[in-house]
Amino acid sequence: MPQLRLDTPVQFLKGIGEKRAESFARLGVASVQDLLFHIPHRYIDASSLTPMAKARVGDDVACVGTVVSKGVLPTRKGLRIFHAVLRDASGLLECAWPGQSFLDRVIMPGQIVLVAGPIRFYHGRQMAPRELVILGDADDPTASGRIIPVYPATEGLSHKQIRAVINQHLDAMVAIVPDILPEALRERFKLPSLRDALHALHRPTSAAAAEDGRRRLAIDELLDLQLMLARARQVAREGQRGTQFTVRKTLTTSLREALPWELTSDQKQAIREIFDDMTKAERMHRLLMGDVGTGKTVVALFAMLLALENGYQAALMAPTELLAEQHYQTLSKLLAPLGLVPELLLGRLGAVDKRAARARLADGTTALVIGTHALVQEQVAFQKLGLVVIDEQHRFGVEQRAALMQKGDAPDVLLLTATPIPRSLALTRFGDLDISILRAKPPGRGIIRTALRTPAHRNRVFEFVRKTALAGGQAYVVLPVIEESERADLRAAETMATSLTAKWLDVGVGLVHGRLKPPERDQVMRAFRDGEVQVLVATTVIEVGIDVPNATVMVIEHPERFGLAQLHQLRGRVGRGEKESHCILLAASSNVPERLRAFTLIDDGFEIAELDLAERGRGDLLGARQSGGIDFKIARFPEDTDLLSEARALARAVLDADPTLKQRENKALRDRALARYPRGEVLFRVG
Ligand code: ADP
Ligand code: MG
Repeated sequence: MPQLRLDTPVQFLKGIGEKRAESFARLGVASVQDLLFHIPHRYIDASSLTPMAKARVGDDVACVGTVVSKGVLPTRKGLRIFHAVLRDASGLLECAWPGQSFLDRVIMPGQIVLVAGPIRFYHGRQMAPRELVILGDADDPTASGRIIPVYPATEGLSHKQIRAVINQHLDAMVAIVPDILPEALRERFKLPSLRDALHALHRPTSAAAAEDGRRRLAIDELLDLQLMLARARQVAREGQRGTQFTVRKTLTTSLREALPWELTSDQKQAIREIFDDMTKAERMHRLLMGDVGTGKTVVALFAMLLALENGYQAALMAPTELLAEQHYQTLSKLLAPLGLVPELLLGRLGAVDKRAARARLADGTTALVIGTHALVQEQVAFQKLGLVVIDEQHRFGVEQRAALMQKGDAPDVLLLTATPIPRSLALTRFGDLDISILRAKPPGRGIIRTALRTPAHRNRVFEFVRKTALAGGQAYVVLPVIEESERADLRAAETMATSLTAKWLDVGVGLVHGRLKPPERDQVMRAFRDGEVQVLVATTVIEVGIDVPNATVMVIEHPERFGLAQLHQLRGRVGRGEKESHCILLAASSNVPERLRAFTLIDDGFEIAELDLAERGRGDLLGARQSGGIDFKIARFPEDTDLLSEARALARAVLDADPTLKQRENKALRDRALARYPRGEVLFRVG
């Protein structure tokens, strides 16, 4: 066989033929490199096993032993039960699998197996295994270690076979893998070498050693992303100089004096941080994160007025026209005492009006403009743009932000997001940004009571909705729509809207969902905002940004099907006026999950985000949907939060010395990061 290389196809390895290579391909393993990084998804730790002699009736235990005998026994009722007797050093254990006679073809005497399940009494002690793992044959040395790796497997390729192949080639593979982390950095952060880590993962001497190995690989994985983020940040800040604003205390002070209320201390802090950035020569690239209702808009307005009092223009961009209108109304009110009138630029304006509005931007007549994201995309010309504020930006990925930052005038950028996320994830997803946080809500806002109801309360809940509507209030009824069952879900929403319309002749009912075209959706939302529709049946499309203070009731159908963070986003649509609001979770069954009870008691978005993360473990929070494609194979959250800070520190240390990673010792780092994030290439072009 020719010399082994990392890019050698696995097919050429001893023990893997064409057919097995196909099975490996299904696991995403094509090359030697892939095989080496196909790491166990769990380990069986012999130290946590129960000796068979010690397994007591009523216990739930895991045991490993050799199959002594086996067979299928029919019962009188015609059920066929597979039986096996296992032995370990302490004694024997009988196991029974009712209705699984096929196991007779799978389990053979002499095999070493792991079983886990409850011990019950049936003519003696007997386990009814929930879990069965064939670890190997009696003479398989890899099956008898104290810590046994278990690999992700697939049809036609058992984890046992994978373990044997990896074990056979491990030393040869590890010998050719380069450690691309510069040695000095590895020492500084006390990380094992990649070789030691891979050894520990595939042939662990202890569970702790395997975990150390996993963490070393996790930091590599996190480092790739942090290199992208840190570089994006460098490009944003140093690539082009920004404007150095001066706090002239004209418009900003007038606004402070005109506000009908006192700013919260979080708002004051955020404004200080923003002003600090804006008065520096580098461009600002800051994220303002705060739950709905924490008062982000007025903070953003202070930033815009700082630009204006320096003779610059400012733009506020929203994701939809409706939200742009809403901002326009809010800002118009706040600016009226200052004698300032903002401009609203929307796609649906007539050609003449649009041209006039553009002319006012180009010659500087308009100082403050509000529009949709199209404002930057459509190459609108400004006379002197100093600041861009982008609302609800959480769906933008790092690469899109980088593109935005590379646009013309080099304005400062302030992003607003109403999705509070835990600090650890903020570093992941927004690692290229500086972050300001609004945590506390202004006092005196309408409180939201959250209640959990079961199907038995259904009629009463809807009667409450109807009464609210008849008394001049408004309500949302929210239904889940998920991709897998989208059609049925949409039908359910339609049915709900139709039946309410038919039943409640005295109440206006509307329906919005994600399949409506934006203009139709906006039309329904406007009707709701203007009070022509009192009850809005909606899917999660109302999650973002809509502000109807008169809506004080929200019923959420099937809350079981939502994540906690999403429920919290939905809930934020009520409680926006002075009046008390109600969020009613109408569970689909009387057997209500604990998480929903917890939800009714917590109203801090950050706390809910932490819970949500813990609940989902390795977190689809980072899944493709919300992160713009950032996903981790090895890193886990929240366990690896500390690694994330290390990876971030590492990335910054590397890039400080070598911004485009052009030095020889960093080439491998650069190649690997770009292999994972190809679109980041633009960030690393030299010169
Ligand atoms: P967000 O955009 O963060 O959801 P908004 O900026 O829309 O929140 O503010 C929510 C409401 O709170 C608005 O009606 C706003 O006028 C009001 N508000 C903002 N700051 C304060 C404050 N410090 N005290 C009282 N009310 C405030
Ligand atoms: Mg807002």
